[in-house]
Amino acid sequence: MTQATRRHVFGPVPSRRLGRSLGVDLVPFKTCTYDCVYCQLGRTTNHTLERRAYVSLDEVLREVAEVLQAGAAPDFVTLSGSGEPTLFEPLGELIRGIKALTDVPVAVLTNGSLLWLPEVREGLADADLVVPSLDAGDDALFRMVNRPHRDMCFADMVAGLEQFCRAHTGRVWLEVFLLADLTAREGQVRQIADIARRLDPERIQLNTVARPPAEAWARAASPAELQAAAALLGPRCEVVADYTAQTVGGDAAAGEEAVLDLLRRRPCRTEDVASGLGLHRNEVVKYLEHLLRADTIATETVGDETYYKAARAPQPAGE
Ligand code: SF4
Repeated sequence: MTQATRRHVFGPVPSRRLGRSLGVDLVPFKTCTYDCVYCQLGRTTNHTLERRAYVSLDEVLREVAEVLQAGAAPDFVTLSGSGEPTLFEPLGELIRGIKALTDVPVAVLTNGSLLWLPEVREGLADADLVVPSLDAGDDALFRMVNRPHRDMCFADMVAGLEQFCRAHTGRVWLEVFLLADLTAREGQVRQIADIARRLDPERIQLNTVARPPAEAWARAASPAELQAAAALLGPRCEVVADYTAQTVGGDAAAGEEAVLDLLRRRPCRTEDVASGLGLHRNEVVKYLEHLLRADTIATETVGDETYYKAARAPQPAGE
């Protein structure tokens, strides 16, 4: 089965935090409990708290098995994707199924919004690494930045995080995504730090906007702001937002070159690149992010759409 015919599994793609990550997408595009202003996938189209088997558990397990049998050697099998993975109801069954197939550790990148539900905490119990998010220190900023489903409240979300972090026997890294002029302010960071102390995660990872966000007014915190926030969050905190380009190798380098080749021919939206090259949208997102950091491509906004195009090569002097 090729990437073009796989529906739920993509990569392995290079991940700054997880090395070579085999991505598993468990919900349809932008099915999420949040509608974050910084979301790199655009605005949420299915804003929901409904947990169900959005995709076939057997099909996902079959795709994971096929990729692993074909020789992929990821550092993590990562449940993340185009929305919130804990909305996938048979999450625990899936994690146990993957662990029956491979010794590769399973990571779950979650916005943490549903951890107040016992069944979600149980579903995550066998994950080797869970990376929940905490992007705000109070209800007002939570609503402004994460734009949660109307039936959600900040206190429940934080209580769920606390219960989960206390009980989980695997590793927990907390991701904090900061925005300039909003959550990167000292007062907000101190409030986030107070909550983070209670959660006591193994690591705290600070991130910020690296590619066009859902709302153009969501701006990246500067490296200096991130460093100041890291100092307030304590010794376990690291800045994972990367303002520099890293090198990718192997299949990823070939995938990135194919994306660049397409953009040299015509400007494209993320979905145009995905359908044009038969790649999963999340894999394309990774390549675009990396190419943007390297200044190899640039963006242009037309109406509500973001187009990517190859950056002009510098002209020799005198031309
Ligand atoms: S939680 Fe993740 S997928 Fe959902 S809107 Fe926020 S950034 Fe996007």
